[in-house]
Amino acid sequence: MWDTLWTDVHLATMAPSHITPTDPYGCIKNGAIAASDGKIVWVGAAIDLPDLPQNLARQVHHMAHQWATPGLVDAHTHLVYAGDRSNEFARRLEGTSYQQIAREGGGINATVSATRAASEEALLELAIKRAKRMLAGGTTTIEIKSGYGLTLHDELKLLRVGRALEKHLPVRVHTTFLGAHALPPEYTGRQDAYVSALVEEMLPRIAEEKLADSVDAFCESIAFSPHEVERIFEAATKLNLPVRIHADQMSDSNSCALAARFMALSADHVEYANEGGIKAMAAAGTVAMLLPGAFYFIRETKLPPIDLFRIHKVPMGLATDCNPGTSPVLDMTTVLNMACTLMRLTPAEALHGATTVGAQALNMQKDIGLLQESYSADITFWPVSGPHELSYWIGGVTPTARVFKGQMD
Ligand SMILES: [Zn+2]
Repeated sequence: MWDTLWTDVHLATMAPSHITPTDPYGCIKNGAIAASDGKIVWVGAAIDLPDLPQNLARQVHHMAHQWATPGLVDAHTHLVYAGDRSNEFARRLEGTSYQQIAREGGGINATVSATRAASEEALLELAIKRAKRMLAGGTTTIEIKSGYGLTLHDELKLLRVGRALEKHLPVRVHTTFLGAHALPPEYTGRQDAYVSALVEEMLPRIAEEKLADSVDAFCESIAFSPHEVERIFEAATKLNLPVRIHADQMSDSNSCALAARFMALSADHVEYANEGGIKAMAAAGTVAMLLPGAFYFIRETKLPPIDLFRIHKVPMGLATDCNPGTSPVLDMTTVLNMACTLMRLTPAEALHGATTVGAQALNMQKDIGLLQESYSADITFWPVSGPHELSYWIGGVTPTARVFKGQMD
């Protein structure tokens, strides 16, 4: 007996074994899917079930011909922080300059101060509230970066909160150490000393406590230079931690090539990526993580080079980039729509970005992102006419049910 069987359901499996030149979603109409011990144990057309549903599983759910997709993967978030920046958003629109707000201690420094001042319990409570909204939108896996603590003590605190979410909510978390997010105010004028502290003190301790699954750095003229990022990546690689990078968001610093040199899991933003870097990413298997929420919110006009990613077969992932400064986005279907409207992805490319490619960017492509036997039973059910409709609505579609590791919410 299987634990649970869902039948009378259309499946967008996203699985290579079902994808055809005319069906990029790998659809199975009038399908069924079963789970035991948290894993998918059977996927196919309902008519091919080996027996009557009630003879096959302890629990049977008839899904009224809704569509099922893999649980969505949000592979780039800054979910754990304290403080509120909506006031800055309003003030900027009322005419106050960003520089003036920064002089008054606003911007990222405001989030760093509020996050340092917040207790671990308070941060967890805030993160749970945001994550619940993400889950209600169909997400089952979230990558969470640190990067608003910027001291060893505070970065450890953020990473522990990220890890703790898994104990409080039905969600899988991948934590990323982003100590190289911004220069902390106490290091003003001493950036090199901060990078040394990152490499010599923070990274080894975080690795020892096994609090990070990967290491990220913000490579940009306003953040860290390619040379500094290289130092951080060398240290991470020595500690067997995979890397990812905030790359070429506001200018071309050739950071995609740098990412590829370190076999980065993903290079994220990538609006200004150059073709040499894109070819290197293709060879290294690095995902291009597109973040249309930030593109939209900062009113960027330089589109990422989507056609070059297509030509060189660099997989394109999608994520919310949920953060208080540049992407107050929690909902992955909103991201699907933005990717299609603003960046001209096809709905199928968008859904792959939020499932199979997101999984690849977290190095979990053998466990999640597909509806296929032996994969984790992470499934989201949607009241739509087909998987393309998920990219169509702006806030107009929410899941009717969500399954995480075989358990239905
Ligand atoms: Zn980010």
